[in-house]
Amino acid sequence: MKLCDMTIHELAALLRAGEVTSTEITESVFDRIDQVEESVGAYVTTARDQAFEQAAAADKRLLQARKRGSLSDISPLMGIPLALKDNICTRGIRTTCASKMLADFVPPYDATVARRLGDLGAVIVGKTNMDEFAMGSSTENSAFHVTRNPWDFERVPGGSSGGSAAAVAAGEAIGALGTDTGGSVRQPASFCGLVGLKPTYARVSRYGVVAFSSSLDQVGPITRDVWDCAIMLRAIAGRDERDATSSPEPVPDYCGSLKETDRDFTIGVPSEFMHSGLDSGIRELIDNAVRALEDAGARIVEVSLPHSDYAIAVYYLIATAEASSNLARMDGIRYGFRAEDAHGVQAVIRQSRSEGFGPEVKRRIMLGTHALSSKHYDEYYLKALKARTLILGDVKEVLEKCDCIISPTSPTVAFRIGEKLDDPVALYLMDVYTTIANLSGMPAVSVPCGTLKGLPVGAQLIGRAFDEGTLFRIAHLLEQACGESVKRPPLEAMKGGRDR
Ligand code: GLN
Repeated sequence: MKLCDMTIHELAALLRAGEVTSTEITESVFDRIDQVEESVGAYVTTARDQAFEQAAAADKRLLQARKRGSLSDISPLMGIPLALKDNICTRGIRTTCASKMLADFVPPYDATVARRLGDLGAVIVGKTNMDEFAMGSSTENSAFHVTRNPWDFERVPGGSSGGSAAAVAAGEAIGALGTDTGGSVRQPASFCGLVGLKPTYARVSRYGVVAFSSSLDQVGPITRDVWDCAIMLRAIAGRDERDATSSPEPVPDYCGSLKETDRDFTIGVPSEFMHSGLDSGIRELIDNAVRALEDAGARIVEVSLPHSDYAIAVYYLIATAEASSNLARMDGIRYGFRAEDAHGVQAVIRQSRSEGFGPEVKRRIMLGTHALSSKHYDEYYLKALKARTLILGDVKEVLEKCDCIISPTSPTVAFRIGEKLDDPVALYLMDVYTTIANLSGMPAVSVPCGTLKGLPVGAQLIGRAFDEGTLFRIAHLLEQACGESVKRPPLEAMKGGRDR
């Protein structure tokens, strides 16, 4: 197996033993990028020179630690090449949000998550493609290019963190960060056969992460297995002075908790989620996953989330309302794109926004502005807030008697590029399982549980607030029971795609 196809924990062991160097791993990753990136299109920007400098620095630190016998003080991320979604600010590397609006924006500072990874010695390969301002589920809304699913180049990698998922699936990064407002880490992870976690709201700092919907956004890892996900969460979680919404709750040793052997879990299967709109093949795989967990010692109970039918409507009201407010700062005056031949303040703002934003972003700004307008506020926005409280109540009640809730991550496998472009509502409806976790703030992880006609399928586990440790342990059980076959897309398929 090539270095670029291995997991973080496998590579960390090799690095500690002195059997490989970070420079070799980074070379392997960039060789893969040279080989497949033209077809995959996972990145907006790669930072080759800086990556090799970081790799050399990591090699030096590893060598010193080995000499001093202090390897145990070193993070497993030391020397590991990672990718960041392009809405996470990186000092000196442009951060575009895949929008014309920020196409030339080079941040003067690092997001806290980027800084933490850097401080631990990770190598930053580059910035990944996404739906513009994280609005979408296919990465087709990027202002730059479409990203292809490494399992099948005719298909989308999911979104909005599709570039991060495609990069990890194709061996163009060992792990990645995405952001998840309504499913954008979990759904692309499920489409690409990876593990993707949306942490508990407030678990991870959002300082320097371009805001989409501030009451829903979280940063989360996309990795090749549960163990890697635990390593990455531990690195980025915790209180940040610069983000007043980040929680002071201590960060546990997630990898340590993965070693515990207790399997006395209660898992809830919501009756509402296994309904008729679900692909029968996916339902079968989720049923299998439930059975596998039961065989592994878990207790399965049927539960109900009576208000889950409203989740999509509530999510699209709250997310668009908050987005319309957050994106008001893109005015063509302070930073970002400015229309060339506009004169006067009003015209500069109007024209810059008209030319700088893509169609989906405009649609969302209009929806959100409408929901917040004085005439419709009570009827839409306020009602959505009330319904959100009911949804939170449902989830809390279930999690009082269950350790987690299991469901599909997405009602379908990766769909064809272009297939859903003309029907935004059809795309919105696909977020039916994922938005519940954002609306309630609970952590949720997507774990591969099988393949359907050669395409990966993910199972979602929603857990209790700030108890990612238990979620990882259940996810690990699931991974051992049915995730093995799903981990890598066949490289021949990736090569085959180059000629198309
Ligand atoms: N698909 C959802 C949307 O389009 C989720 C996006 C996200 O999580 N960033 O809003």
